[in-house]
Amino acid sequence: TKKAIEKAKEKSELNVFITLTEDFALETAHKLDEKVKKGEELKLFGLPVAVKDNINVKGYATTCASKILKGYVSPYNATVVEKLIENGAVIIGKANMDEFAFGSTNETSAFGPVKNPYDKERVPGGSSGGSAVSVAADIVPFALGSDTGGSIRQPAAFCGVVGVKPTYGRVSRYGLVAFGSSLDQIGPFSYDVCGAGLLLEAISGFDKNDSTSVDKLANFKPELRDLKGLKVGVIEEYAEKIEQEDVKEIYYRVLEYLKASGAEIVKLDMPHIKYSIAAYYIVATSEASSNLARFDGVRYGNRVHSDNVKDMYLKTRSEGFGEEAKRRILLGTFALSSGYYDAYYLRALAVRKLIAKDFEKAFSNVDIIFTPATPTTAFKLGEKLDNPLEMYLSDIFTVPVNLAGLPAITLPVDFSKEGLPVGMQFISKWFDEKTMLDVAYTVE
Ligand code: GLN
Repeated sequence: TKKAIEKAKEKSELNVFITLTEDFALETAHKLDEKVKKGEELKLFGLPVAVKDNINVKGYATTCASKILKGYVSPYNATVVEKLIENGAVIIGKANMDEFAFGSTNETSAFGPVKNPYDKERVPGGSSGGSAVSVAADIVPFALGSDTGGSIRQPAAFCGVVGVKPTYGRVSRYGLVAFGSSLDQIGPFSYDVCGAGLLLEAISGFDKNDSTSVDKLANFKPELRDLKGLKVGVIEEYAEKIEQEDVKEIYYRVLEYLKASGAEIVKLDMPHIKYSIAAYYIVATSEASSNLARFDGVRYGNRVHSDNVKDMYLKTRSEGFGEEAKRRILLGTFALSSGYYDAYYLRALAVRKLIAKDFEKAFSNVDIIFTPATPTTAFKLGEKLDNPLEMYLSDIFTVPVNLAGLPAITLPVDFSKEGLPVGMQFISKWFDEKTMLDVAYTVE
């Protein structure tokens, strides 16, 4: 625990943490001594963990990397935090992120961007950039992030670590500050697939405080499996969406490896997947605009005083939210407005259903789907900041998974010509994380 805290401080130039939970960490570690004496066996015994700063840890600030939550201290632990503690993990800090998890680069954080440890001029990805770098920079072996449209898998790919987005409902969202409630899932970052399985197992399960969580058996210890006869689905048009030649080469090389190992490659017909980005940015911003309505200067965090309520509300929100949060509130509110609701929101929901159906059909014929994780390697800081549309388009390989509620993993497979990590993605059937982990473990 002390070593991890020391490393976090030494590597402060990476800007990984918003808050270090040092006192709490030492207290937890001391309590573990007692548990050891009692002979208790704990899955995550003594392992230091970083937690994204949109997940509540009792007695510490939850900032969501936003100015609007200034002064807010959480009075309770998120369910995943309770589970970490029960399993013997030690939480050492709250990791930096994009404001309210809006973004793909960590640049929307009110606390400044996290730096990619492979090249400090580059972004770590987002929105869980701090969590990804806490593991990639070897500060902690484990971190938790949240994934609404790729926020675990994309930064994992940009930083050369493993990231898992569980099936929707696998992990309780109680104590996670909501972005898109029908899309959000908390999941693990780790050095390797085995670690991801271990952490996922520890945080999974039904929680009476989250009505969307489910009670399903979760044994996530990855095992090597014979790839012979494994039916691997590929989405052909995806290869063309890879923007970087060396990333494309690596994608095809992994595909060749799968073939050479005896896997049967099946080309999938996914007619609606091309509408994923459009549908995602309607659904996600609609839910976000509604979820952010609670930050009104009354109930949480910062308040800009005024002698009338409406003005207080206006000033608090104008000062508190950053540009991307405002953009999303505008987009979402527009899509939900009367007169536009049918044309945008309802239509996006219909498209979402069709995308899920495409996956359902695909999985009636394949065991797993293999795709790239990102169209490029990590961008330069500032590179996409002025072009939000381009930024949104870079989520192409990750958002369909959230729209359909499926589980997916990204794992590092190689390096680009410039020496940056390149990740690939495996998507499995609903609640079949086991197959996903086994295949990833074998490929790793
Ligand atoms: N990059 C996507 C977005 O900006 C995904 C973010 C996330 O998963 N939290 O919405």
